[in-house]
Amino acid sequence: MSIPTSTAGGSPQPSIRPGNGEPVPIIASYPPWQGLQLHSLAVAVEFRCGPCGLRHESAMVATSPGTLVCPSCYARLSLAAAPVPAQRSAVRW
Ligand SMILES: [Zn+2]
Repeated sequence: MSIPTSTAGGSPQPSIRPGNGEPVPIIASYPPWQGLQLHSLAVAVEFRCGPCGLRHESAMVATSPGTLVCPSCYARLSLAAAPVPAQRSAVRW
């Protein structure tokens, strides 16, 4: 384990703490979507998904305020959300 010596940004390394486990470093975080944010973790973690209540072991986990969400539920919830048009044409042709 190594501790980054340069913390010029002032922000600590992002991590996620699944259930009763130790904090796991987050490698990458994807843009939030419908209150959900998908994270890629350094190692697979075991956690209980809030929406479906099942236990999962995955290196991909989404977070929602106060709970963890498995990739399956993340996809389901993302698809269930009404798609927002990427571009709204402000110009009328
Ligand atoms: Zn789930």
